[in-house]
Amino acid sequence: MTIRMHTDSPSFKQKAGMSEQFDTVIVGGGMVGLSCAKALRDQGASVAVVDRDRYTEAASTGNAGMIVPSHIVPLSAPGVIAKGMKWLMNPESPLYIKPSADPAFMKWLWAFQRHCTQAHVDHGIPVLRDSILASLELLDAWCSQEGFERAGLKHTGLLMLHFGEKARQENLELADIAEKAGLEIERLDRDGTLALEPALKTDISGSVYFRQDARVDPEGLLRAMEAHVRGLGVTIIEGAVRSLQRSGRKVVGIKTADRTIEANHLVLAAGSWTSKLTKGLGTQLLLQPAKGYSVTIPDAESGGVDTGMNMPCLVTDQKISITPMPGGIRFSGTLGLQGYDLSVDERRVKPIRRHAALYCGEEHVSPVPTWAGLRPASPDGLPFVGPLPDMDNVWVASGHGMLGVTLGPITGQLIAEQIAGSAPSLDTVPFRVDRFA
Ligand SMILES: Cc1cc2nc3c(=O)[nH]c(=O)nc-3n(C[C@H](O)[C@H](O)[C@H](O)COP(=O)(O)OP(=O)(O)OC[C@H]3O[C@@H](n4cnc5c(N)ncnc54)[C@H](O)[C@@H]3O)c2cc1C
Repeated sequence: MTIRMHTDSPSFKQKAGMSEQFDTVIVGGGMVGLSCAKALRDQGASVAVVDRDRYTEAASTGNAGMIVPSHIVPLSAPGVIAKGMKWLMNPESPLYIKPSADPAFMKWLWAFQRHCTQAHVDHGIPVLRDSILASLELLDAWCSQEGFERAGLKHTGLLMLHFGEKARQENLELADIAEKAGLEIERLDRDGTLALEPALKTDISGSVYFRQDARVDPEGLLRAMEAHVRGLGVTIIEGAVRSLQRSGRKVVGIKTADRTIEANHLVLAAGSWTSKLTKGLGTQLLLQPAKGYSVTIPDAESGGVDTGMNMPCLVTDQKISITPMPGGIRFSGTLGLQGYDLSVDERRVKPIRRHAALYCGEEHVSPVPTWAGLRPASPDGLPFVGPLPDMDNVWVASGHGMLGVTLGPITGQLIAEQIAGSAPSLDTVPFRVDRFA
């Protein structure tokens, strides 16, 4: 497919009152949408991003900010369902599934359980490893540019901590898998762990250190990317996409409350809401919102407390992550399959807050509100990156689940390559949108 270049700038057309027209319009300006905008603009296309409110709604702001080569095992793995069933009985557990007879949800659950196999894990590991490492390389290149300082990228590595025997076994199994996949890891006892992160306060028995992992301030990264793509000439349009006008196998108009935008190509990167948009085009995307929470305690300079932590950590026993960031420290966790409800269930947040209090003191934790965000989860733990079935100019970039910050840059590149019709830098077959059909 070729890209038609517009020689006259979109802003001129807006001023002149003509209909706005771009080579590509992206719906959604979270990490994934902005990554697509950057890659497409770098390729020379005129690009607009339409987003209704990324700094309050997007998952891309309040997440744990971990860039994770350590996460090469897809979420749908053997044993996950049994563990999940046990957790369902506990109101403070990290997993919650709201019973629902919604056919789309049932279909998603069915597909999820079908992928909890060793064969799927064996298929997913190299796919995730290669895409995560390629994405990290792109992120490194972006963050070496002026303006990206606020992204706070730090190549610290990550500690996967364990207290109990079960979590230790789980971590050691993951260490074996990661080592076999060629990742740089170290198995550490308690002293070895404390030598790497002396500010740890919990009574851990050991950890696995993933040397290639990194951390960012996700909101800082998003703001840096927004400024960067604006500087490149990408148009950012504030507004909700209400409908997509279709003519045969093409979308010919993208409608918000007050305008219609025309584009040669449309990229749907609306996170958990992407399936609402594909539904209008006749495709049921197997995508479910998976709610997570975070609590961010400011550092002493901002009225909070300094913990001295440098290393992002994941507590395997409780599935809680701890991420030091510029200006504070973030504690996050839980996965709730309960639709688009963004309300905070304080019972689920309790273990996260308890952990935060251990490091920061209750007096610094209690005034801090809880952030909630929706991970766009696919049933097989792999994203959707490719053309929408039965359409000639619509592309999907969503379904990144727990990995959207990590996989944003490579997703943008793969979308730009596919739209340009050039050979993709990675095999895109595992990310096909029609793989569950
Ligand atoms: C607690 C938690 C911790 C996490 N930790 C990590 C981590 O450490 N590392 C990692 O890699 N990932 C992490 N994730 C996952 C990551 O946050 C997501 O995968 C990623 O943010 C998804 O990005 P996105 O751009 O696809 O979606 P979003 O960030 O949700 O953006 C979608 C955007 O689309 C817009 N939109 C939707 N519908 C419309 C419409 N009709 N019109 C206009 N705009 C629309 C929304 O306003 C939103 O701004 C975490 C998630 C959670 C919840």
